[in-house]
Amino acid sequence: MCAAACGSTSARVPLERAAGTLPTTTTTATTVPAPPTTPPPTSPPPGTVPAANAVTSPHGFPLPVDSRDDRGWLVETPCGNRATLTAGTPLTTPTVILDPGHGGAETGAVGPNHLRESVLNLAVSQFAKSALQANGVSVVMTRPGDDRVVLTTRSALVRKLRPAAFVSVHHNSSPDGPRDSPGSDTYYQYRSPQSKRLAGLIYEEIFRALSAYRIPWVGQVDGGAKYRLNGQGGDYYHVLRETAGTPSALAELAFLSDPPEADLLARPDVQQVEGEAVARAVLRFLRTPDPGSGYVTPIPRNTPTGGGGGEGCVDPPL
Ligand SMILES: [Zn+2]
Repeated sequence: MCAAACGSTSARVPLERAAGTLPTTTTTATTVPAPPTTPPPTSPPPGTVPAANAVTSPHGFPLPVDSRDDRGWLVETPCGNRATLTAGTPLTTPTVILDPGHGGAETGAVGPNHLRESVLNLAVSQFAKSALQANGVSVVMTRPGDDRVVLTTRSALVRKLRPAAFVSVHHNSSPDGPRDSPGSDTYYQYRSPQSKRLAGLIYEEIFRALSAYRIPWVGQVDGGAKYRLNGQGGDYYHVLRETAGTPSALAELAFLSDPPEADLLARPDVQQVEGEAVARAVLRFLRTPDPGSGYVTPIPRNTPTGGGGGEGCVDPPL
C-alpha cells in the first residue's frame, strides 16, 4: 500500500548526518624500547570507553549517556535509573527516532479483542522503520521489543541524539462518539511550525490510508492535527514538551477501544498500512515543503493520560 507519495520519493538519498569520529588507537611495532612517558593529563585513563551521546547496550537497548568515567558510560536505563555500562556500541544520530508508545507491563489501551496498544504500536513502528530504511533513512526506535521504557528515558534519547524528526506512535481510547471517517488525531509542539507540519503530514497520510476501510469509525469531535497544552501553557505530552528543538509529533492513529477498529488493527496487513502511512509522512516531511492538512483548533480537555512513569518498573538485563 505504498502508492503515489512513495513513487515521488523513490530516489534513495542518504540523509544521515555525518557520524561523529570515535577515538581510535593504533599500535606500532618497534624494536627500539621507547623511553617511558607520562600520558598528558588530557588522555583518558586506560579502559575508558569512547565518547558517545547514546549507546546501544549489549541487549539492544538504545540508552542516553549522561557521562563516562574509567569504568564505562553512565546511562539512563529503561526504568529511568542510572547505571554504568562497561560494554556497548556508540549510537550515531539517526535521521528519525520512532517511539512505539508504552511497553511491557505498561500496556496502554487494550482492545475488546485483548489487543494491547503496546504490542500494536511496536508492530506499526517496525513497519514504518522498514519502509523508511528502504528509502535510505536511518531510524532508531526507543524500544527494540515489548519492553517498558519510561518517558524520561525516551525524551532524553531524543535530546542526546537530535534527529531530524521524532514520531511517537499510539492508538486511542475514549472517543467522543461515532464518525463517518477515521478518527485519527496527531499532536504537535505548540510553538514549532516544523512540528506542526510533521503532524499535519502524518494526519494526511494516515487518514487517507485508513479511509480505504469501510467500517463504523469513532473519534473525537475535534479530530485532526492539533496541539494540547498543560496548565502552564506548555505542551501537555511529555514526549513533545521534553523534546523541544526537535520536530516531534505524537500520533493516535485509530481507536483501539472501538470493536470494529480493534478487529482491523489486529490484522498485520493493516498494521503495515499504518506503518507505511507514517513512513510516507516522514519522507514528505524530510524531502518536500508540503504543508500537511487536517489542522483543527482543539477543544480544551482535562482528561489525564496515564502511563510512562517508573512506579514498579524493574530494569531488564542491559
Ligand atoms: Zn498510548
